[in-house]
Amino acid sequence: MQLVCLDLEGVLVPEIWIEFAERTGIPELRRTTRDEPDYDKLMKFRLELLKQHQLGLPDIQKVITEMGPEPGAREFLDSLRQRYQVIILSDTFYEFAMPLMAQLGMPTLFCHKLEADDQGFLVNYHLRMPNQKREAVQRFKEINFQVIAAGDSYNDTAMLMEAHAGILFRAPQNVIAEFPQFPVETEYAALRAQIDLAAARIAAA
Ligand SMILES: [Mg+2]
Repeated sequence: MQLVCLDLEGVLVPEIWIEFAERTGIPELRRTTRDEPDYDKLMKFRLELLKQHQLGLPDIQKVITEMGPEPGAREFLDSLRQRYQVIILSDTFYEFAMPLMAQLGMPTLFCHKLEADDQGFLVNYHLRMPNQKREAVQRFKEINFQVIAAGDSYNDTAMLMEAHAGILFRAPQNVIAEFPQFPVETEYAALRAQIDLAAARIAAA
C-alpha cells in the first residue's frame, strides 16, 4: 500500500504568514522556515510580534479564510486521493488551517495547536511532538506503507529523506542546492508524474 505525505504551505496553500504580513503591513512576519530553519525561534518571534501589534486569532482567521488554496491544488489533491492514501503533514496549526482544509475537501491533516487567551490573543503554541513530519513517516513505514513525500522547505527535508521517495515542489534555490538528491517540480501535473514514477519504482524494488 502506498501513501503520499504532502506539506501544506507552499505546496497546496500560500505561505500563511507571508499573506498575513502583506494584509496587515507587518513585514517582519514574512520570515518563514525558508529564512529561519530553527522552527522554535521562528514561532517565538512571530507570537511576540503579534502581541506587540495587538493582533489576535480572529484577525488571523479572517485573512486565512479569504486566502484560498493555490490555483489547481484542489483538483490535484482530488485526483491524487483517488489513487493513493494522502496525509498532509504540516507545521502549521489547526486554528489556522481549517478554513483552507474546507476549501480542499477536508483531507487528513496532521499539524500542531495554538493556545489563545480569553481575548483571542495567542499566548503559546504546542507541537504534538518534535520532528513530527519525519516521525510520522517512520511510523507509516512501520505499519507497512510505502511512503512518497513532497514539500518545499527546510522543515520538509527530514520527511523527504525518511520517505521511500522524496520530491521538492516549488522549493527556493537554497533548499534545492542543499538537497540535490531530490527531484524538483513546480507544476501540479509534473508533481503528479513524479509521484507516479516514484510509486512504480518503489513497487518494483
Ligand atoms: Mg511548506
